[in-house]
Amino acid sequence: MSGDYYCAHCEQEFVVDEGEDGGDRPPCPTCAQTESVYSVDTFSLVRDIRRQWIVVFAILFLAGAGFALYQWTTGE
Ligand SMILES: [Zn+2]
Repeated sequence: MSGDYYCAHCEQEFVVDEGEDGGDRPPCPTCAQTESVYSVDTFSLVRDIRRQWIVVFAILFLAGAGFALYQWTTGE
């Protein structure tokens, strides 16, 4: 397989041409690591999940802040 890859170690994307790679995870051209290399498809999926968690936490934080404000304004 060829395509776009992302190195979590160097935080950069790189492209592997067809015929150059020898497996699922080609070595990073900068640091030569393979463990930190993900295909961009996989990594963008992880990034989307992480972004959804940020939204969930933001909603929970706003709900908590709203509840605290509600208690502060009503409870005397
Ligand atoms: Zn790297």
